[in-house]
Amino acid sequence: MKRATYEGKAKRVVSQPDGSAHIYYKDDATAFNGVRHAEFEGKGTLNSQITERLFEYLAGRGIPTHHLGRVDERTLAAKWVDIIPIEAVVRYKVAGSLGKRTGLDHLAVCDPPIVEMYYKRDDLGDPLINDDHVRLLGLATPDEVEWIRSTARGAADALRDLFFRSGIDLVDLKFEFGRTVDGELVLADEVSPDTCRFRDLATGEILDKDLFRFDEGDLLAGYRKLLAHLDRALANGADVQS
Ligand code: C5P
Repeated sequence: MKRATYEGKAKRVVSQPDGSAHIYYKDDATAFNGVRHAEFEGKGTLNSQITERLFEYLAGRGIPTHHLGRVDERTLAAKWVDIIPIEAVVRYKVAGSLGKRTGLDHLAVCDPPIVEMYYKRDDLGDPLINDDHVRLLGLATPDEVEWIRSTARGAADALRDLFFRSGIDLVDLKFEFGRTVDGELVLADEVSPDTCRFRDLATGEILDKDLFRFDEGDLLAGYRKLLAHLDRALANGADVQS
């Protein structure tokens, strides 16, 4: 059986003879659609650990994901999916492109939280799109779009509660979804500090890829701290305070 390999900016996905995928997490960090690039030794391992814990947590809350298990230190096994080229972003506070687009103050609260969709097309710069564009482009059916929106919001709410318990503010995040060979829609790709914004609630410290995007500090130290907070929240349940 011929192996399919997809080389992304931060991951490599290789199809397996049993129909699954092995997702290798690289140490590369990119920002601004690949304009900035650097390597951080150990980032891939950290992101695979954070993604693994979060997908398992979400699966325990009834969110279907592509995650199957761990292969090695920096490789996760997943169901093979066709990624739907929509990036679903859930925002609890204003940051990044939302601030630029609206002029709202950085970290102003979005009440209620908002869900946005972006067309996953590097050559177009991943533009913001609405339901009509999704239909025009034939990216997903109206029912699928509704499911993506509500699942993204439900999964993000579950993660925001989890992180809050360990003193972390989940500011915003991006999800991707895929279709399995059986036609099931599942949460896919990764959920990590590369794809979420996290702030320490007590200190305001940045614990995500903004450290690299805006030269705000030590990326690996931030990711390690985030993982430690996450492990405390997962180990101690609802009673933990940072
Ligand atoms: O850049 P923007 O403010 O739109 O990003 C919103 C959220 O989505 C951030 O957490 C960012 O890390 C994530 N994102 C991503 N991949 C992209 C664009 C945004 O993970 N291509």
